Amino acid sequence: MCIFCSIIKKEIPAGILYEDEDVIAFLDISQVTKGHTLIVPKKHVETMLDCEEETLAHVMMLAKKIGNHLMNKLSANGMNVLSNVYQAAGQSVPHFHVHLIPRYDENDACIIHFEESEKQDLDALQSLLKL
Ligand SMILES: [Zn+2]
Repeated sequence: MCIFCSIIKKEIPAGILYEDEDVIAFLDISQVTKGHTLIVPKKHVETMLDCEEETLAHVMMLAKKIGNHLMNKLSANGMNVLSNVYQAAGQSVPHFHVHLIPRYDENDACIIHFEESEKQDLDALQSLLKL
């Protein structure tokens, strides 16, 4: 059984902040920063890429609403909103979830770092990937 499905079924306790028919939001057990929250659709789908559009829109609407709430209540200075897709990207629970990670100037253990790996041919990539 998936751990998030167990939380949804109330078989495992969690710090639930919000719940409706389709979506639940609870405090991540490992608080990367104070207030680190997960938004999770109740229907089990592995990743964002598998989520039906109506549910995905609902999850993202709640990311905005709960994100604003966390920013205000915790006086955060910023927030990372992210969803990891598959293990290669750091997904640890195979049930789609969006992380809300409030950011602060002090006591902030979250490091998100972008660096260029190797030069890419942007024209070739655009030809390959254009929709
Ligand atoms: Zn699940």
